[in-house]
Amino acid sequence: MCGIVGYIGPRKAYPIIIEGLKRLEYRGYDSAGIALFDGKDLKVSKTKGKVADLEAQVEKEITTTGNVGIGHTRWATHGVPNDVNSHPHVSNSGNLVIIHNGIIENYESLKLELISRGYTFKSDTDTEVLVNLIEEIQKQDNLKLGKAVQVALNQVIGAYAIAVFDKNKPEEIVVARLGSPLAIGIGDNDDEFFIASDASPFLEYTKNAVYLEDEEMAIIRFHKGIKIRKIKDDSVVETFVQELQINLEQIEKGGFDHFMLKEIHEQPKAITDTYRGRLLRNEAIIKMAGVEDNMKKFLNANRIIIVACGTSWHAGLVAEYIFEDLARIPVEVEYASEFRYRNPVINEDDVVIAISQSGETADTLAAIKLAKSKGAFVFGVCNVVGSSIARESDAGAYTHAGPEIGVASTKAFTTQITVLTLIALRLARAKGTISSSDFRTHLLELELIPKKVEKALESDDNIKVISKIYKDAKNFLYLGRGYNFPVALEGALKLKEISYIHAEGYPAAEMKHGPIALIDENMPIAVIATKKGHYEKVVSNIQEIKSRKGKIIGIVTEGDTQVRGLADHVIEVPETLESLSPLLTTIPLQLLSYHIAVMLDKNVDQPRNLAKSVTVE
Ligand code: GLU
Repeated sequence: MCGIVGYIGPRKAYPIIIEGLKRLEYRGYDSAGIALFDGKDLKVSKTKGKVADLEAQVEKEITTTGNVGIGHTRWATHGVPNDVNSHPHVSNSGNLVIIHNGIIENYESLKLELISRGYTFKSDTDTEVLVNLIEEIQKQDNLKLGKAVQVALNQVIGAYAIAVFDKNKPEEIVVARLGSPLAIGIGDNDDEFFIASDASPFLEYTKNAVYLEDEEMAIIRFHKGIKIRKIKDDSVVETFVQELQINLEQIEKGGFDHFMLKEIHEQPKAITDTYRGRLLRNEAIIKMAGVEDNMKKFLNANRIIIVACGTSWHAGLVAEYIFEDLARIPVEVEYASEFRYRNPVINEDDVVIAISQSGETADTLAAIKLAKSKGAFVFGVCNVVGSSIARESDAGAYTHAGPEIGVASTKAFTTQITVLTLIALRLARAKGTISSSDFRTHLLELELIPKKVEKALESDDNIKVISKIYKDAKNFLYLGRGYNFPVALEGALKLKEISYIHAEGYPAAEMKHGPIALIDENMPIAVIATKKGHYEKVVSNIQEIKSRKGKIIGIVTEGDTQVRGLADHVIEVPETLESLSPLLTTIPLQLLSYHIAVMLDKNVDQPRNLAKSVTVE
C-alpha cells in the first residue's frame, strides 16, 4: 500500500508534495516522509505518524526550498512504523534517495549480499535494501541511474512502485512499477512532472497523465520529457498520455464531517451513475458493451466464479444469489487470496468475475492472472478507470461510483451490486430465464432504488439514538437470510473496521448452531427482517433471540408491525424486490457503524491498521 508523490519542475516542490500526501493518506498513514533537493543538498525529514505530524516537523527540521522532491505516506509491511523505517530511504553514500510502495520479497538474500560488501542498514525495511542495491550496481559498472535501477529491478522479486533520484543529478527522477500503481502527471510544455500513486495529488495542475504499466520504468527529466522502457528487455514503450476526467471537487469532503459520511450520502447519485446509459427502461433493455461483446462466453459458461476480497467479496456473495436466482447460472464465490494459492480447477468454459473497488487489490489481480493462464474468460468489475484489474481483465464494467476515499467501503459496495444486478438481468433475458414482465419490473424497481436509498438515509436521527445506546457494547451480532445474509456480513465488517467492536455476521438460521450461546441481555443483534425475504422464518429467529434477552435492532420494511412488536428498536427501509433489498438494508448498517465510531471518537476515515487499496498480498 503506501502513497507516493514526486515533483520535478519550475515550482516549489514541497507544497505540492505535502498536499499530495494528504490526498494519498487513505493508502497508508502510519508514517510519512519527504526528501527535497534544495539546490545544494538533499534534505530528508520523516516521522512516525500522519502527514500532519510530518508537516509540523518539516519546517522545524529542513529548508523547504527546491524544485525536486519525493514524499511517502506509509503502511508498514517490513519493520514497525517508526521514524527510521519511514520513507524516503537514503543509500549508504548519501547520494540516492528512494520511496517505495510494495514488497521486495527476496530482500533478505539481497541484504546479506550487500552486507558482505560492506553496506550497513539503519532500518528494517525491504526498501532500504533496494536503494543500496541500486547504488552497488551503479558503482560496480559505472552505470547511469536509470540503467542501475533497471538492472536492480531485474534482480528483485516482489511488487513495487518506486521513485528514486540522485542528489548529484537532481534534474532526473527514475520511476518504475510492478504490481503497485503509478501515475505521471505531465505539465504544460513538458517542463514539469508529477509522480503519484493516483492522480489526485496533481489534479489542479494538469489533466494529462501517463499510467505506467507493470514492468515499465520511466526516466523523467526536467525540460527533456519522459522516456518509458520495459524493465525486462529495455525496449522502448510509446508514451500514451490520457486526459483525466475527475476533478478536485470529487475528492474533497463537500461539507460532511468525514469522507465515509459523504460517500454514504452519495449512494443515490452513485447508483444512478452506475446504471445510467445501461438501463434503458423505455426500450426495456440493458446495454453493457463488455457483456454484449462476450455474450457467447457468458451463455456457454459452465459456471461463474467470483473472486474478490473484503467488502467486494460480500458484493460477490449478493451476486451469487442474483445470478443463480435470475439467470440460473451456477456461481461460486471465492476469496481471491485463497483461490490463487489452492490450485483451483478452472477451464475455458469458466467465466471469472473479479471485483475490486480500486482495481489494484493484489490478491484479486493475482487470481485474474491465474484464471487467465488456465484459459478462463475474466470480467473485471472495478471503480477506478484504467486500474490494473481493468487492464488485466478480458472485458469488464466500471461501477462509476466516483472516487471513494473513506477506507471503509460504502458506495463501492452498493454500486458493485448494481453492476452485478445489471449483468445478471441482461444474462437472464438472453437465456430466457426471466419473463419479460419480470424483467421490466426489475428495471423499474432498480430505477427507483436511488430515491429509496434517499428515504433510507432519512433514518439517520433514529440510528444516532440507537448508536448511543449500544456504542459501549463489546460484541455485536448481525443476522440475515438469503439475499440479506451477505448484508449481515458486511454490516459486521463495517462495525469492526471503524469502531473496533467485535462483530460477527451470520445467516439467521445458523444462529442455533453456535452463536446463540453468546446471546444475553448485553448483546445487541441487528436482524435484517424485510418483508420479502423468508420473513416468517426470520421472525421466528427474532423470537428465539428475545427468549434469551438479546437486544434486537430490526431492519424492517416500512409499515412493519410484527417485528416492531418484538424488537427493541426498528429501522425502516422502503419496500422493494427481494433481489434489490441489499441496496437498501445495507444503508442503516453503514450509518450505525459510522455513528458508533464517531461517538467512540475513532478515526472513521483512517481506521487503525487498514489502508484503502490493498496492493500487498
Ligand atoms: N515494504 C515497504 C515498507 O514496509 C513499503 C510498504 C508498502 O508499500 O505497503 O516500508
